[in-house]
Amino acid sequence: MILNEGAACVALLHFVINQYLVNMSVLATMLQNQRTYFQSGATRSAAFRLKQLKTFYVAIKKYENELNEALQKDLNKAPQESYNTEIGPALSEITHLRNNLKGWMEPQQVPGMIFSFPSSGKIYTEPYGSVLIIAPWNYPFWLSAVPIAGALSAGNCVVLKPSELAPATSAVMKKMLEEIFNPEYVAVVEGDATISTQLLEQSFDYIFFTGSTTVGKVVAQAAAKNLIPYTLELGGKSPCIVDKEVNVSLAARRLLWGKMINSGQTCVAPDFVYVHREVQEQLVSEMKKVLQQFYPQGALNDSTYPRIVNEKHYQRLMTLLKSGGNILWGGKSNDTNHLIEPTIIGGVGWNDTIMKEEIFGPLLPLLPYDNLDEVIHAVNTQPKPLSLYIFSNNKKLQQRIIREVPFGGGLINDTIEHLGNPHLPFGGTGTSGQGAYHGKYSFDTFSHHKSVMKKGTWLDLSFRYPPYRKISLRLAKLLLR
Ligand code: NAD
Repeated sequence: MILNEGAACVALLHFVINQYLVNMSVLATMLQNQRTYFQSGATRSAAFRLKQLKTFYVAIKKYENELNEALQKDLNKAPQESYNTEIGPALSEITHLRNNLKGWMEPQQVPGMIFSFPSSGKIYTEPYGSVLIIAPWNYPFWLSAVPIAGALSAGNCVVLKPSELAPATSAVMKKMLEEIFNPEYVAVVEGDATISTQLLEQSFDYIFFTGSTTVGKVVAQAAAKNLIPYTLELGGKSPCIVDKEVNVSLAARRLLWGKMINSGQTCVAPDFVYVHREVQEQLVSEMKKVLQQFYPQGALNDSTYPRIVNEKHYQRLMTLLKSGGNILWGGKSNDTNHLIEPTIIGGVGWNDTIMKEEIFGPLLPLLPYDNLDEVIHAVNTQPKPLSLYIFSNNKKLQQRIIREVPFGGGLINDTIEHLGNPHLPFGGTGTSGQGAYHGKYSFDTFSHHKSVMKKGTWLDLSFRYPPYRKISLRLAKLLLR
């Protein structure tokens, strides 16, 4: 019996090793095929890139219903929520790239320098090659489509690894991308952390990762092994500060909208609210009104209320819900459907469990404050947030927070919508991320900027050449200072 078990273990080990080797060889071949295609120069011209972006755009329109159904299956997103936060923003990003691409591709002329007279400089943008895009589950379409569009606009090939926790959306994206693109240009590899690890062992030319800070560190280590450049779009606790000089009911409405889309499973959702003590009661009462307006039958009975992605995240959130504080609104849940009501929690401080990790769900702790110094001090002792929201009509207060608190990006008097503006770079700082994208920033992220200086031949100043004379040093000191 013991012998049999031993033999079974050895057979299993053999199977796992074999599977690993097969996967590694399939992935290496896939990347080699992309490399050959890229080196043919096929992806370089503006005409080619624009054509592929158009093809991508048309395919998204064609697959809109299938994507909606998949997003509903994975997260119970309503079609309007899917359009507002996944499909619509992806389409408008592609439109922006298509409208501006030709201008961005033009080499940028820069002035020469007097020391090198006569000379001029140009910056050429050059695609990296094959880009690995690893996506998360919370906006499984948008957070795949927007990096893909950026990478293609810059003339790269792409391998997408969607999240295994949104399998329906992953399957539709694979079907759509395989229908419109050859795998030498865009390939999709589905799977979990195991396949992701195997992909990270390949020598891609660029890695674009969206996900948790913990896995971000794994990705950065893997990239470092082969010195692959990368972007990390990570998470963290994004604060929302509600000052006393504010339209409280509008603040309540806008901050709860940002918190409750996708049931709080949004990287830039307000994680917690710091509210001025003078308006705390009013804010709570306005938030209760807003939640009644948003979900007149109660969120748990609302067929459009997104569910928590899986049992593990549901249990994680239920533990946080029970971890302390006073529930001021909500608190009910549905184990079968993984639903948790929008829940406002008072009476918590930085020592409570809920303030120690990114919530990533519909729980909203409120912390009262008396003066801004304590807010700035507390936020600045935490890891740098991805987003920060300020509700205030006081311009001095707005400017002080912008000046004194580091954060990825932010919004004054609303939440989330800064992500939709393609003129603003989107990315974190410190543990909330490295690098940024959207619009021109995507094009720049996925392009190497190649500097080239050109010198005239009609003049050759002799002071830089040996033998060095006093006059040449004097001239150098005059020109280089
Ligand atoms: P995750 O880090 O668990 O997974 C992200 C991706 O990495 C998935 O495709 C997964 O298969 C893969 N992965 C998981 N473990 C891995 C490993 N050990 N090695 C290699 N790959 C691995 O993140 P998630 O749960 O999908 O997403 C939630 C997190 O992502 C939150 O922290 C959230 O704030 C963050 N997020 C950030 C942004 C942003 O734009 N900054 C957007 C969405 C989510």
